[in-house]
Amino acid sequence: MRALIVIDYTNDFVDGSLPVGQPGIDIEARVCELTEQFADNNDYVVMAVDLHDEKDVFHPESKLFPPHNLRGSLGRELYGNLKMVFEDNSDSIYWMDKTRYSAFCGTDLELRLRERGITELHLIGVCTDICVLHTAVDAYNKGFSIIVHEDAVASFNQDGHTWALGHFRGSLGAKVVTGD
Ligand code: ZN
Repeated sequence: MRALIVIDYTNDFVDGSLPVGQPGIDIEARVCELTEQFADNNDYVVMAVDLHDEKDVFHPESKLFPPHNLRGSLGRELYGNLKMVFEDNSDSIYWMDKTRYSAFCGTDLELRLRERGITELHLIGVCTDICVLHTAVDAYNKGFSIIVHEDAVASFNQDGHTWALGHFRGSLGAKVVTGD
């Protein structure tokens, strides 16, 4: 059994307050296509979305990044057509708030995957070298097999993006794939 984890593909992370910019915009069609494919195939789809509260001084990211993905904000809505894809498939896609880089940290993601007998995780979204990376590291440590879709991940840091793709392959045993 397999699942697709769509990571942080929101307005703020694509072209908002903490933007990937053009590389993030460029993957929109592929992110939407994969999300639709997995949902149509009745695979488990998780929309893992960063959540912050304004002026949360205890959150470690407060010292690192400008405010982003604030609760209830436009910046936290899904970017571009993914918003519509989610709304069209909202019965079958699990919306999951997360407050750290990894989609496993402080969430019930692992329980949900284990309940469903899922062993293979497909990762897409942003940023390749931050939230996708930390999710992949946790998935590796928990024994999931990992597939990263190179044409559906992006970062504001091209060197970091390239490094992370190599790390997925060489250190996490992931398959890094493009196309179908
Ligand atoms: Zn954040």
